[in-house]
Amino acid sequence: MLVRLMYASRAATAVDQEELAAILRTSARRNPENGITGVLCCSGGLFIQVLEGGRSQVNALYRRICGDARHEEVTLLAYEEINERRFAGWAMGQVNMSRLNPAVLIKYNECARLDPFAVSGAATVALFDELVAGAAIMGQG
Ligand code: FAD
Repeated sequence: MLVRLMYASRAATAVDQEELAAILRTSARRNPENGITGVLCCSGGLFIQVLEGGRSQVNALYRRICGDARHEEVTLLAYEEINERRFAGWAMGQVNMSRLNPAVLIKYNECARLDPFAVSGAATVALFDELVAGAAIMGQG
């Protein structure tokens, strides 16, 4: 039984490259052994992450992530049973925000700013799909 989960959160403190790299290193090390794949987006003090995998493994990882002091206001945006993975190639890919087209942001938001707390979960799912399609996913394959 495969599921896909998406959440958003706010970084507890400003996220520098080393902190983000540490999160991605942990993900790359631990996700394969748990059959987890996904993508992480970090921008403007916000995280948006998609986790895919077996239901119990995804739920267990989400509980761990909710308890992580590096972020707060962890908010579930979407949870669905799936037939196939969308991010099978990534233990935890990273959305390359420098490739982001601002027109994609304004399409789903009142202004051209990433704010999953101001829009519906469905809007963030649709936006994220476009980010993934248009902004290359980097690393941690
Ligand atoms: P341990 O490694 O034993 O750590 C113990 C505690 O310290 C935990 O509460 C942990 O959250 C916290 N902690 C660990 N490292 C740091 C640090 N550098 N600074 C501050 N606190 C720390 N983990 C994955 O396995 N896969 C993922 O895809 C994943 N995505 C994440 C996305 C985000 C946005 C964040 C913030 C974290 C993510 N993590 C991910 C990390 C996850 O929250 C756990 O820290 C990690 O899985 C290790 O869990 P553990 O119980 O073995 O904790």
